Amino acid sequence: MGYTLTEKIIKSHLVVGEMVKGQEIGIKIDQTLTQDSTGTMAYLQFEAMEVPRVKTKKSLAYIDHNMLQEGPENMDDHLYIQSVAKKYGVYYSRPGNGICHQVQIERFGVPGDTLLGSDSHTPTGGGLGMLAIGAGGLDVAVAMAGDPYYITMPEVVKVELTGKLRSGVSSKDVILEVLRQCTVKGGVNKVFEYTGAGVKTLTVPERATITNMGAELGATTSVFPSDEMTKLFLDAQGRGEDYKPLAADPDAVFDEIVKVDMDILEPLTACPHSPDKVVKVSEIEGLAINQVAIGSCTNSSWLDLMKVAEIVRGKTVPENVSFVIAPGSKQVLTMLAENGALADLLNAGARVLECGCGPCIGMGQAPSTDAVSLRTFNRNFFGRSGTPSADVYLLSPETAAISAIEGVLTSPLGKVNLPVINMPEKFLLNDTMVVAPAPEGTEVEVIKGPNIKPFPATKPLEKIVAGQALIVVEDNITTDHIMPSNAKLLPYRSNIPYLSNYCLAPCDPEFPQRALDNPGGFIVGGSNYGQGSSREHAALAPVYLGIKGVAVKSFARIHKNNLINNGILPLVFENEADYDTISLGDELVIENALDAVKAGQAKLINKTKGLTYVMALEVSERQKEMLLAGGLINLIKSKK
Ligand code: SF4
Repeated sequence: MGYTLTEKIIKSHLVVGEMVKGQEIGIKIDQTLTQDSTGTMAYLQFEAMEVPRVKTKKSLAYIDHNMLQEGPENMDDHLYIQSVAKKYGVYYSRPGNGICHQVQIERFGVPGDTLLGSDSHTPTGGGLGMLAIGAGGLDVAVAMAGDPYYITMPEVVKVELTGKLRSGVSSKDVILEVLRQCTVKGGVNKVFEYTGAGVKTLTVPERATITNMGAELGATTSVFPSDEMTKLFLDAQGRGEDYKPLAADPDAVFDEIVKVDMDILEPLTACPHSPDKVVKVSEIEGLAINQVAIGSCTNSSWLDLMKVAEIVRGKTVPENVSFVIAPGSKQVLTMLAENGALADLLNAGARVLECGCGPCIGMGQAPSTDAVSLRTFNRNFFGRSGTPSADVYLLSPETAAISAIEGVLTSPLGKVNLPVINMPEKFLLNDTMVVAPAPEGTEVEVIKGPNIKPFPATKPLEKIVAGQALIVVEDNITTDHIMPSNAKLLPYRSNIPYLSNYCLAPCDPEFPQRALDNPGGFIVGGSNYGQGSSREHAALAPVYLGIKGVAVKSFARIHKNNLINNGILPLVFENEADYDTISLGDELVIENALDAVKAGQAKLINKTKGLTYVMALEVSERQKEMLLAGGLINLIKSKK
């Protein structure tokens, strides 16, 4: 029996466990990436491990999220990351060089390598044939220290692409179609592996759009084969030597099959406020719009922006539309400037932003009150744009561009007839904004501004865990709810005490103070708790507030790992109906938490209601050790 490509890459990196589906395995990590909003914590944690230099093949520290400099905080973070990178052997991508995932694909990704990133859209690297996984900052710190990364051996979903995209239909529509079929909960512990005759029609940037937004499926990652298209891309990036052909064996066995016929695919859009609320653009065509934003790590490649320039050339955006574009990298922006496409965009009325995440993470360009914003991004969670009353629709660059010109939501099908835009034979290569680490780091001084506070310390698990239900929230709570991320809070990513004042505040503004006043309690939630961004702060803030356990119907993968890494008990109702019986302020207790962790099951007693709930504690043996030690850092220290 042959192997899937996923299994082949795992097999060549397996260091702990066996390739048995559902079991925990440890894999060696070749490359890591961090971005600034998760990076400060990751490097503080790396420093705490007292390892002299990173042990990966290549590690990158990007600055792309917090680039507004309204006060010294962001710049202080950048200086910390720059100095710590130089000391410990990490390449530093300066602000302005681009969004981590776009630059990683362009300049550093290698087919067949493993990549672990402290950003949930790290799977973008799957477009290049990497096994690229998003994780919490601590996991990345551990990988930088040379230890394996642990995942559940995934199931592999075969996504069979047939046909060819029509003009006006894009790879964004492919992933929106997969999201429509599989939903935001459909990918847990699965890798989506793309196969079929349609694969060879997609360029690497188009594939990267698909693997990027595979994160919205909740998947471990997504991966494309490495083939002639990959070779063309790497040759054009001056990195032909990194190419190697990779594909699933013809007789590989997959666990599920999803089919997308690109011949008949239509332009799609994800409606507010979830990436899987997908409808055909034609069904809601004519919707009045206020903003069009093009960019993000999903759709900001040279190819994307060339299509946009082609559509808007010689036209002007009407006065009711604010039109913003954030190119994905310095390479993209410089090439657009050189070939005149930038002038086309500016002439059409585009506001061109610096190369970074920008509006995707609410760093500027928040829409007006009650606005409709069309975005080529990957997430449209409630409030993420910075304007809670805004409705954000996710769609392709082609749909965004034609809608910007028409002033209402417009399907590009039949309206735009794009010429074939070929990949350039050579991209513009200039890596001067990437700073190499010092050959020996011992002399380098790490610079820590006053906003950089240590991460909250934790203690080993105690026998009795008791406290109140300090908040009861519903299904699909995202890490944006748990630890909001906006232009006002992002500068405090290295300051957990400050951030914790806003923890779960979108659900209940009084929760942070209530938790501080009643330490040791529980968060109670519904299904898919913690979906969305990988941000570890969504675990660190509850730690700071004294939360000991999170009891939910189900968890999103990365958030559950982040809770365990930080010593918070991840409890899952074996009987979902029990959730309905818990009220705010109920007194909850686990009388023998140490045995419960070892057994993988806890009895959670609701003393107020006189009820007992059976809670699954589905954790691996290694994670049990972490929970007993009060978190991964404590465990690593205790083993030294
Ligand atoms: Fe940046 Fe948005 Fe991509 Fe996150 S999803 S890396 S904020 S562009």
